[in-house]
Amino acid sequence: MHGPFWNEERETLEREALRAWQLKQLRATVKSALGTPFYRPRLHAVGVQHPEDLCALDDLEKLPYTVKDDLREAYPEGLLAVPIEQVVRLHTSSGTTGTPTVIYHTQADLDAWTELVARAIIGCGATSSDIFQNMMGYGLFTGGLGLHYGAERVGLAVIPSSSGNTSRQLRLMRDFKTTVIHATPSYMLHLQSYMEPAGYPRESLALRCAFTGAEAYSEATHRKLEALMDIRVFNSYGLSEMNGPGVAFECAAQDDMHIWEDAYVVEMAVPGQDRTLDEEQEGELVLTTLCRQATPLLRYRTGDLTVLRGTPCACGRTHRRIARIRGRADDMLIVNGVNIYPQQVEAAIMGQSGVGANYQIHLNKKGSLDRMTVRVEIAADGFTGDIRSLERLRHLLRDTLRSVLLVTPEIELHEPGGLPVSEGKAQRVLDDRPRA
Ligand code: AMP
Ligand code: ZN
Repeated sequence: MHGPFWNEERETLEREALRAWQLKQLRATVKSALGTPFYRPRLHAVGVQHPEDLCALDDLEKLPYTVKDDLREAYPEGLLAVPIEQVVRLHTSSGTTGTPTVIYHTQADLDAWTELVARAIIGCGATSSDIFQNMMGYGLFTGGLGLHYGAERVGLAVIPSSSGNTSRQLRLMRDFKTTVIHATPSYMLHLQSYMEPAGYPRESLALRCAFTGAEAYSEATHRKLEALMDIRVFNSYGLSEMNGPGVAFECAAQDDMHIWEDAYVVEMAVPGQDRTLDEEQEGELVLTTLCRQATPLLRYRTGDLTVLRGTPCACGRTHRRIARIRGRADDMLIVNGVNIYPQQVEAAIMGQSGVGANYQIHLNKKGSLDRMTVRVEIAADGFTGDIRSLERLRHLLRDTLRSVLLVTPEIELHEPGGLPVSEGKAQRVLDDRPRA
């Protein structure tokens, strides 16, 4: 297997040439960072007055990290590196949990972002003959517009359906013979469970693949989606701070996600510490933008936990890969002193037969102890009304979770479609424990 590529030269650059490009672009990034009120004093403080003060790529380690709170502090203009006349778009975070953050883009920034998404689309084997229905929210959330422009650039026929309204989504899919969709994994599970009852059996649809991301999901869910929908699912990773989707993408080899190293310098760090890690060690992904004029970011701590892999890929791309995101460092739950990631729960239950499309973790207190309840929807074909088979499923899930988590949760079974579905990212954890 080799290719196909959107930009073969860039996607298969020899490592040495890639590193030379990175140093050149890093200096350009530092130059524009020096022009911002936020970075100027911080760079001066570590002795960087000019881009040439970086003699080699490893000098990146001298630079300070940037964290989400820095973006909040710099809001709204502290990180803007170009005159506002050059800005053609901006995306802000929702700000529901405090001050929002903002990323500005020049036309060149948007073109560079679009190129990364185009590469990913071609890498999954989509072509201009595909009909692409984009079920990610359009607007300030970057999922919709990010894929939209990439897909248009490649020449797919784009249906900008945005998120929600499942009956309309299915009707569009059937009437326009949609072959490729883009959605969160939780929404795809919902869509799948809705197809048959809403009168859109699988045979009535031309679907063959999906780009799926924006939230963490397990390998078990990935496989389940592929099997239930009879399609190939490609994991897609991105974050607004680094543009949005298109940062890392599974290629046709489906062996972890290539991260575009001509657009980002990739480092790994110990979560919460100023210590970097090597390839093959799990840690927090740290990224530096290399092709962004309006909002340069240096050593941004994404909070996402993964492993960086440098082994060759069958597709011929030289850009390294990151493993499926295990969750965010700040997603970790502590239940009666035991550390638990929601993804562990998902991985343990979603592969079991009889389990449907949705689940939720509910935490509260009973006396001084934490109590964990996992609410699980059962599969439509497993809902026979036979109490004994439901009891068996409940015990199986409880025992499986106990052995993985070392905590014994209560299991609540819900009928198909019985748990709330969110149009954007799924809310998996409801923590009702009183704050200490
Ligand atoms: P946002 O900036 O709102 O688009 O959210 C970005 C965050 O979504 C990332 O930092 C990740 O935590 C999460 N995310 C995005 N894509 C994926 C993916 N494919 N797998 C796991 N988490 C993801
Ligand atoms: Zn590959």
